[in-house]
Amino acid sequence: MRGLMLEGLDLRKPMSGRKIAILRIQTEVLRVMVERLLEKGFYWILPVILSKSTDPLWPDPEFSIEKKVEVEIYGEKVSAMQSMIVHKRVLVSLGPEKIFILSPNIRIERRDRAATGRHLYEFTQFEVEVAYAKMQDIFGIYEELITESIKYVRKHLSRELEVLGRELKIPQTPFKVYKRSELEEKYGASWQDEVSRIFEDPIWVTGIPREFYDYEDPETGEWRNYDLILPEGYGEVISGAEREYEYEKLAKKLERDGLDKSNYKILLDLAKEGLLKPSAGAGLGIERFIAYIVGARHVAEVQPFPRIPGIVPEI
Ligand code: AMP
Ligand code: MG
Repeated sequence: MRGLMLEGLDLRKPMSGRKIAILRIQTEVLRVMVERLLEKGFYWILPVILSKSTDPLWPDPEFSIEKKVEVEIYGEKVSAMQSMIVHKRVLVSLGPEKIFILSPNIRIERRDRAATGRHLYEFTQFEVEVAYAKMQDIFGIYEELITESIKYVRKHLSRELEVLGRELKIPQTPFKVYKRSELEEKYGASWQDEVSRIFEDPIWVTGIPREFYDYEDPETGEWRNYDLILPEGYGEVISGAEREYEYEKLAKKLERDGLDKSNYKILLDLAKEGLLKPSAGAGLGIERFIAYIVGARHVAEVQPFPRIPGIVPEI
């Protein structure tokens, strides 16, 4: 299994030059991204970890969770955060209309996912949500964050790129947009892996049937959601959507997905009162993005304390 042959797993030895170069690049990329959003007037929200409300991650075609982490605190059952989507929706409706969060997620992925090179059981999302925004607005924000990060690394961290033996291309913007249905028709069920190898720049893919909170057009049946697929086989790095905000639609979709409405009570109450604002947003997997920038073989190579599915380390 690829995951078992990673360097940097021995935490009784000083880090290699490669690993230190990766951490330097991650530090600067996070700074570039945070600074860009602060310049645009975003609020920087700190994450929550334990909550009655979290992302069901279902029914996402990428779903591969072995177990949901639930604990009892103060006599109540809470889950470890799988994503802060519900909190983001509530927050942009109550005041700060442009927010970002560096949000740690715990997802106990199936052990066979260690071999994909893309899955961890703890990772961090760079999450953005903007009230009244549309898909194109979110595309623009992440395209800027991605290209500006890459430009910065090429300009100021060329020594680190050399240590890593990484040649990094600045992608052309705007990124091309494709419908999932057309890609599936052309490349079959494993379209994601295919397009990730074929295209030279990142591409947006829209229209993906999945969780209840993504907006589904009642007339066309089209899902106004999107993934960003990175080239060179790195695959999906962002998922996002315009969001549902009407009570009836949310309630119906929760029932359709067999989810317990009591876990989404604030969201539903706000929607019922007409206070849930339409919004759009997305989450970028920080480790996957950094893995792409540094040319890592496995996403765990960018973690100081690797979290590979199926392997519980000493620290
Ligand atoms: P999702 O909304 O579930 O697609 O998650 C948002 C983003 O987080 C994805 O596009 C990935 O970049 C990242 N991500 C999701 N699951 C994992 C995982 N198990 N390991 C590493 N990154 C992940
Ligand atoms: Mg996704």
